[in-house]
Amino acid sequence: MNEISGVGETQNITDGAVPCHDGQANPVHHFRYCPRCAAEGTFNLHDYSFKCPACGFYFFLNAAAAVTAVIFNDKGELLTVKRGVEPGRGMIDLPGGFVDPGESVEQALLREIKEELDLVPVSILYMGSFPNRYLFSGTTVFTVDCAFRCYVDDFSTLKHQDDVMDVAFARPQDIDLKAVPFVSVQQVIKKLIDEPSNFR
Ligand SMILES: [Zn+2]
Repeated sequence: MNEISGVGETQNITDGAVPCHDGQANPVHHFRYCPRCAAEGTFNLHDYSFKCPACGFYFFLNAAAAVTAVIFNDKGELLTVKRGVEPGRGMIDLPGGFVDPGESVEQALLREIKEELDLVPVSILYMGSFPNRYLFSGTTVFTVDCAFRCYVDDFSTLKHQDDVMDVAFARPQDIDLKAVPFVSVQQVIKKLIDEPSNFR
């Protein structure tokens, strides 16, 4: 059981609660007032919901859908990017980003690959989903990263743009996982190392 000291209160998180950053990064400290009527509300740490006793506003802090692209060149090297934005600016990541409202996961994947790398995959294969949490704007953000193997035939247009600082190719086993800021992306790379024949 972890004890979290809040603003003027102490809350206990049992083993069944969603794991979160401790202290002031916990969303309980950032969801205190109702966005509809501004009354003080209650944030439930177990289902990550906010309820307003004054107007009845009820909101769930769900995990945001995100996409992660696994792209190999013909030498079996994985395309990695150096992040150009926080969190984890300058660290190693895989291409990807958030799914926009109204967009499918597949559309988001192709859009992000085009925006970040100017590449167009000829086909994609779903690998699995990987939960992540990270600090953004001083609070914990939850995502679920949907990873896809993306088959690219033509790398001639490759250039890094948008929020990518640099692009590199490396064998998965040669990537320093300590330089990868997100546990979800670490798990994708581990999966590529552990199951080399499934996703090449
Ligand atoms: Zn309210």
